[in-house]
Amino acid sequence: MSSERGTLYTIAAPSGAGKTSLVKALIESKKFVNVSVSHTTRPPRPGEIDGVNYHFVSPQQFQAMLAESQFIEHAEVFGNFYGTSRQWVESNLAQGLDVILEIDWQGAQQVKRLLPETLSIFILPPSRQALLERLTNRGQDDEAVIQRRMDEAISEMSHYADADYLVINECFDNALKDLRCIIRAQRLIAKAQHLRQEKLIEGLLQH
Ligand code: 5GP
Repeated sequence: MSSERGTLYTIAAPSGAGKTSLVKALIESKKFVNVSVSHTTRPPRPGEIDGVNYHFVSPQQFQAMLAESQFIEHAEVFGNFYGTSRQWVESNLAQGLDVILEIDWQGAQQVKRLLPETLSIFILPPSRQALLERLTNRGQDDEAVIQRRMDEAISEMSHYADADYLVINECFDNALKDLRCIIRAQRLIAKAQHLRQEKLIEGLLQH
């Protein structure tokens, strides 16, 4: 493995933009990319597994971790706390692995301030109608719940311009290709390749 540090990515999106499915498909095809499992005080939704989707913790546990500076970033999102493990992120990057943080815009801002080399990606839905349909298709929620989700989505989307890359998820496969391109281009940066391809380059330049 190269001695080059991995790249840190943040991916933000409004709920309903397809972020989680895209990231899942992305990491399945890339062995050198890992996605961080956040800590949250939000209760698990049906089907969510502790340690897989999130580390589900109590507000007291969360505050204790915060007091011990265990989070690289944290935020309160719609009444629940979320945080990213500093130690996990650091150890992955140090091993040369790329790391994806699926976090909200506040978290993405904090990470960028702390580690300015972080690349931020924002995923948007193709239209307001599509977003509404995706938010509505989720379950049997009443109008008020859907309206609240829509308001939250608009509030998240209003921060799209902070990101380095903007991906529109109109067609899942194309959006996935876009994400793969971003990661691939980053791996091809000469400085990183120089370390990764050291042996090859050494051989090529021999007289
Ligand atoms: P949900 O509760 O629907 O899974 O996530 C709500 C929001 O919290 C999403 O925008 C999600 O990206 C964000 N989120 C999840 N984990 C973290 C985290 O560790 N830090 C921050 N800042 N946001 C997070």
